[in-house]
Amino acid sequence: MKLPNYVGGQWIEGLGAGSPLLDPVQGVELARASSEGIDFAAALHYARTVGGPALRTQTYAQRAAILGRIAEVLAANRDAYCAIALANSGATKADAAVDVDGAIYTLKYYAKEGATLGATSLSRDGELARLGKDEAFQVLHVNVPLRGVAILINAFNFPSWGLWAKAAPALLSGVPVFAKPATATAWLAQRMVADVIQAAVLPPGALSIVCGHADDLLDHVTGMDAIAFTGSAATAERIRSHAAVARRSARINIEADSLNVAILGPDVNAGDAELGLFVSEVVREMTGKSGQKCTAIRRILVPAARHDQVAEALHAKLTGVRVGDPRNAEVQMGPLVSKVQQQAVLQGIARLERESPVIAGRGVEFRPIDADASIAAFVAPTLLGNDRPLDAIDVHDFEVFGPVATLLPYQDVEQALHIARLGRGSLVASIFSADPQVIERVALELASCHGRVHAVSAEVARAQTGHGNVMPMSLHGGPGRAGGGQELGGLRALRFYHQLAALQGPTSLLRGLTARSVTL
Ligand code: NAP
Repeated sequence: MKLPNYVGGQWIEGLGAGSPLLDPVQGVELARASSEGIDFAAALHYARTVGGPALRTQTYAQRAAILGRIAEVLAANRDAYCAIALANSGATKADAAVDVDGAIYTLKYYAKEGATLGATSLSRDGELARLGKDEAFQVLHVNVPLRGVAILINAFNFPSWGLWAKAAPALLSGVPVFAKPATATAWLAQRMVADVIQAAVLPPGALSIVCGHADDLLDHVTGMDAIAFTGSAATAERIRSHAAVARRSARINIEADSLNVAILGPDVNAGDAELGLFVSEVVREMTGKSGQKCTAIRRILVPAARHDQVAEALHAKLTGVRVGDPRNAEVQMGPLVSKVQQQAVLQGIARLERESPVIAGRGVEFRPIDADASIAAFVAPTLLGNDRPLDAIDVHDFEVFGPVATLLPYQDVEQALHIARLGRGSLVASIFSADPQVIERVALELASCHGRVHAVSAEVARAQTGHGNVMPMSLHGGPGRAGGGQELGGLRALRFYHQLAALQGPTSLLRGLTARSVTL
């Protein structure tokens, strides 16, 4: 089966043999993806000139209703999506739920938030402001939808959520979507788009998808388009410096890799609830989606006095994790997404190991349940440790995108903050503490170099949403090496797909616009 691409309002199969999509447990080929022969210039033009105007004639509330219908279509086909996630990504039920249900939840959230914007398609930023002494002439800042296309380039680890978390704010803004999922796991995104197209809930041109390599896609980008990219820092650099992107000043949002920290507060003693919560969270983050999450905990910071206790607790829990074919209900952690990723992670562990010895787990030296290790792409949860975090380099600089994290002791809060900042900008930092002063200090000090700070004490043990979980109402993205991007965060996400303009003119006219617009 070759996955058809949907461009220019038609399903088109790419030319040539294409790239195989494989089952990472059984090694069998599931589908092929090819973008060869796709006329990207024409495809983008169609989205801009057919999809864009059709979306812009609708109000925010009407577009929000469309998002609600997309969520219904996806929910109706949920089982098929989980089956694809299992086959193509080796996802356990829990992993598939994060991706598939996360997408549906995000769409429903934006459907609800969008409905509050009402029967208008105009939004403003702030209120009228006088430009001089005479009140008759003022300025109003308005947000209008971009007249280009939202080019959504996604990573392999979230083929479902990655697509819809970007598409929901774009479509709600009135901007057509052109999706380019990562080739290795494109099947799920392609199937979802096919179901949405089949259900005819969107106007023509509002949604396109190309599976397979990006080819000359970015050569045809214009200054009116918005590129939302998620992937590695290396690809991000290529996209950022792409000649057409740079020359035409195309708008670009980058979500790249990140060396996220979890910090155990200095106040936490043996036997405290926060200690147990911390250990469980680290294990969940290392093993959920087999560690293939951009928000996963990579650096585990503990007070030196608690180091050995945490190391022992993590060792015990990680060695007990059942790794194997997710078709077996006993299995808790599946494979990596491909043999290529397995090799990359094993090489990454070897590199980290040069300065941080392994404490628990040994790469591939274990027997996965119900799987042939020579065919499948498994890596055991692997915990490393480094007693001299201030002298270490790779642990703060080199992301290993798998079930891998490093335990680092710190002497005091000042030092913990310093170590966290050595990551040069990350998506998320978490602090586990019962001391409100510690939490406040860590949160405010780390907010400048993290997109999100997640604080957990025993009182929020049940309510907390998880270090690595990205909630649509909360900002996702981080400064510096995390890419400098900003996604989600409620209706803030819509700003990326709007142009802000200052309207200077007669106060009476601007008052009329104010009355017809909503604040974004
Ligand atoms: P990747 O290799 O950088 O690929 C990401 C996407 O970019 C894929 O769709 C890829 O297509 C496409 N691409 C590659 N070269 C391109 C080019 N020259 N022009 C346009 N598109 C191009 O990343 P990955 O291996 O899929 O994902 C893993 C990485 O993503 C990790 O480093 C992880 O930290 C990061 N990530 C970050 C976040 C976040 O929100 N910050 C979330 C998830 C993952 P092909 O697949 O066809 O090559």
